[in-house]
Amino acid sequence: MYKYRTFGDRYVVSIDNHREIAAALAAFCTEKGIRAGAVHGIGAICEATFRFLDPATKKYVDKTFSEQMEITNLTGNISEKEGKVYLHLHVTASRRDYSCIGGHLLSAVLNGACELVVEDFHGSIGRRFDPETGLYLYDL
Ligand code: FE
Repeated sequence: MYKYRTFGDRYVVSIDNHREIAAALAAFCTEKGIRAGAVHGIGAICEATFRFLDPATKKYVDKTFSEQMEITNLTGNISEKEGKVYLHLHVTASRRDYSCIGGHLLSAVLNGACELVVEDFHGSIGRRFDPETGLYLYDL
């Protein structure tokens, strides 16, 4: 599902082609026992589902884009919720016409490469539901 090398507190991770990136990254964090950390990376994808939270309704609006795109930036954090790895990922992706779309990343299918740097904070950070925003915020 992925290959990696360890550099101190950091891992360089290359996800295998045609994998779903969020699932592969969650599997990696589970394997390495990362319960607090950060991730950034680049890659190429052929499908992505973004999520938008409407603050007025506190409802999620999800949209899937099925086209070849470059991940110009993937940035996120790693925490835990109900004993499981919880990823909070945002992505900006460029299209064939060089315009960009982006948002909160639910899932993305790799088509090319996906090269990530994962940092392990060697601790754990949980999540707590915040009724005001409708979000599971960091429980610090
Ligand atoms: Fe988000």
